[in-house]
Amino acid sequence: MKLFDLQPKYSRKDLFDRTRELSELHRAIDRGYPIVALLGIKRIGKTSVLKTFLNEVYGIYVDLRGVVRRADLEVKVTDSISSSLRKVRKFVEGIRGVSVAGFSVEIKWRGSDSVSLAGLLSEINKKKKRFVVALDEVQSVKPPLSAELRNLLAYGYDNLENISFIVAGSEIGMLRDFLGCENPGSPLYGRYIYEIHIDRFSEKESREFLERGFREEGVEPPAEVIDQAVEFFDGIVGWLVFFGRKYVDGYRDIETLKNIAVELAREELTKLNYRERAVLKAIASGHRTWSSVRKHVTENYGVTIPKATLTRIVTKLERLSIVKNYEFQDPVYREASKKLRP
Ligand code: ADP
Ligand code: MG
Repeated sequence: MKLFDLQPKYSRKDLFDRTRELSELHRAIDRGYPIVALLGIKRIGKTSVLKTFLNEVYGIYVDLRGVVRRADLEVKVTDSISSSLRKVRKFVEGIRGVSVAGFSVEIKWRGSDSVSLAGLLSEINKKKKRFVVALDEVQSVKPPLSAELRNLLAYGYDNLENISFIVAGSEIGMLRDFLGCENPGSPLYGRYIYEIHIDRFSEKESREFLERGFREEGVEPPAEVIDQAVEFFDGIVGWLVFFGRKYVDGYRDIETLKNIAVELAREELTKLNYRERAVLKAIASGHRTWSSVRKHVTENYGVTIPKATLTRIVTKLERLSIVKNYEFQDPVYREASKKLRP
């Protein structure tokens, strides 16, 4: 795999750096933390770190985006066991409800001789060897399935000493709320979760990343193109890959490339409602306090947002990891916000 390949990386030889994050994950799992949270904004490289890590331990990787019902989850779990069968065969063979034939696995989730998710994990737990269940974008699961998943995590935390969950997510506040360790109503209330953060690359690392990527592709862009990309994409590896890939594919104008990225981000932000977009536009134009955002929205969009509503909106934008302390986490989203129709 090359650095500018768009799919998440899954092997250390293809991964640029992230040795600190990987050894932290190894340490946390070796020490037996029941739940580890891998946190970082969108496109920062969480899935790549997670898949690479899974490549080095026993376990399964489950992407929870699009999982709505329990059946969706059961399909995903079955498929992830199938796809890492070579490694997990000895954990699942012989479990009632699970039949392994050749290179695929069939799981009977209901009826006679079936196994539940919790039952499956308890059986795996009995193998007395550490097993990792990685749940990517876990905050995207909505009720009622989210409650079931939380119960499963709590059950694992309390009873399955050989199983570690790694939960990852871009919407960091949403993920913390999903787990609810500080919420007395959550089955995970008061549980300790070990957090690992994935940060953006430094300017130096971004430059090195692009230079190595272009070298692999046999393309040599002018120095000022690299300079501009390093500055604009602010160490967010997903954007660097996006930029490098497009450049290699023949898009040689940096302004065009920036615009394509901004347009991608803008499309995502159009899912927010009118008030949320107005608040984003205020923050994008440099308003750094609650009251100046409120005034800007009134002056420019002709609506005064109720106090409690504005607070709720700011909190939501923070929970989505779009902004933090009235600043954008990703400059591409700042530019995109400027182009939003309120
Ligand atoms: P996230 O899950 O945080 O949104 P991904 O792991 O999907 O991020 O990465 C986004 C893009 O960046 C993908 O194209 C992936 O291949 C690339 N990428 C991420 N981290 C690295 C890395 N350390 N080295 C090389 N490419 C990476
Ligand atoms: Mg991801």
